[in-house]
Amino acid sequence: MSEHPDTRTQPEEEDPYESLMARRGAPKLRFPAREADPRLAYALVHDELLLDGVARMNLATFCTTWAEPEVLALLAESFDKNIVDKDEYPQTAELETRCVRMLADLWHSPHPHTTLGTSTTGSSEAAMLAGLAAKFRWRERRAGEGKPAERPNFVCGPVQVCWEKFARYFDVEIRQVPMDPGRYLMEPEQCLERCDENTIMVVATLGQTFTGLFEDVVAIAAALDDFERQRGIDIPMHVDGASGAMLAPFTAPDLEWDFRVERVKSINASGHKTGLAPLGCGWAVWREQHDMPQRMIFNVNYLGGEMPTFNLNFSRPGGQVVTQYYDFIRLGREGYARVHRATYETCAHLAHQIAKLGPFEIVHAGDPQKGIAAVSWTLADGANPGYNLFDLADRLRAHGWLVPAYTLPPHLDNLAIQRILVRHGFSRDMADLLLADLERSLKTLAEHPPSKSLSEREVGSFNHDAKAAVS
Ligand SMILES: *Cc1c(COP(=O)(O)O)cnc(C)c1O
Repeated sequence: MSEHPDTRTQPEEEDPYESLMARRGAPKLRFPAREADPRLAYALVHDELLLDGVARMNLATFCTTWAEPEVLALLAESFDKNIVDKDEYPQTAELETRCVRMLADLWHSPHPHTTLGTSTTGSSEAAMLAGLAAKFRWRERRAGEGKPAERPNFVCGPVQVCWEKFARYFDVEIRQVPMDPGRYLMEPEQCLERCDENTIMVVATLGQTFTGLFEDVVAIAAALDDFERQRGIDIPMHVDGASGAMLAPFTAPDLEWDFRVERVKSINASGHKTGLAPLGCGWAVWREQHDMPQRMIFNVNYLGGEMPTFNLNFSRPGGQVVTQYYDFIRLGREGYARVHRATYETCAHLAHQIAKLGPFEIVHAGDPQKGIAAVSWTLADGANPGYNLFDLADRLRAHGWLVPAYTLPPHLDNLAIQRILVRHGFSRDMADLLLADLERSLKTLAEHPPSKSLSEREVGSFNHDAKAAVS
């Protein structure tokens, strides 16, 4: 088809939708040969993103979807700062160091001023670093004992996909405790069954992906103490506190899960989840300096000055750390407690109402001693309402809400669960709007039950890895 000659000159200067690119569609398959006007390119990209939905109505994500205007200002002011360039941006580097010290203090490190830690792009990178540190420590110890160090493993409960990635990418066997009817978490007994002299660490999760529940770090550590007494094998623990580690210190301060438990050698957290920082901020902190092996630290001199680095990535944006520091000094313990208590209050309200609305069994009602600010539920045992939780998720999607349903990991992979994450900025009014839509959806489903074969197919084809990765 030949191109239509434009009769006016530069029509896009007046109205971007008049342009050829707007009328024909933006390039999609081939690298475009020609330039476009920035206003036009912006309009096309902006419009396409309208279909993404509203992030704050996405109740599947753990990640920050609301921030104060000051955060957005600082983020814009530091968009050109590279965190790795500590010589050029010494104050950004200083803010990172302060954040590490503050987190080490918050998590009760015995030496919060000298221990090591780093910002990362998220908990996944932090998990890789902590896992690698455990592998290095284990290899050094085995070498010292003159024993082979070829087949490392780690033990964990039902974990977020980042730990399966760590296992595969870095060639460490993952020994995962499956779920069982009525048991969603790793308990000490199943943990010990999987430990041996090649176990580099046990990973406990504070705020499990599937249910939101906390694993019992103290009980698992006590079991590992017994194991050491009986077998002479000392296995360190890592706590994946992606969402729990920046929540529990404020809303369940007496709950012991951190460096108060001596066996815990490292902790990861997502600054961009309950840390309230913008997306792209995570943390890894070690108990004491020597828990982070020297061999993992590289000193580079090519940006001027001598800089230690032990991240997977080199260049990263500085704004995430800058705004995390803003959050720390802006909110303090008092402010974080206020923000997070409000999310738990909303959870309690939601759990109470959801239990009344349908044939549901609440798995986690958002009790701050037991898990993160989330509500999760299954269909009650024996309930057969003519629809399943995937149908309900579909209906809610039609109202703009993302409330995912997904099957649980083995051995409960025939059981579907549904989950709401309550985050800063999700007000009581929004919760009530959601409940009204939930009630409407349930009414529609009861009046027009979906065809059975479709529901069954949806459950059968579901891949929990893919869904877990969504958060
Ligand atoms: C979100 C999450 C992760 C992954 O964190 P990212 O910051 O998204 O990389 C790991 N573990 C748990 C328990 C999580 O909730």
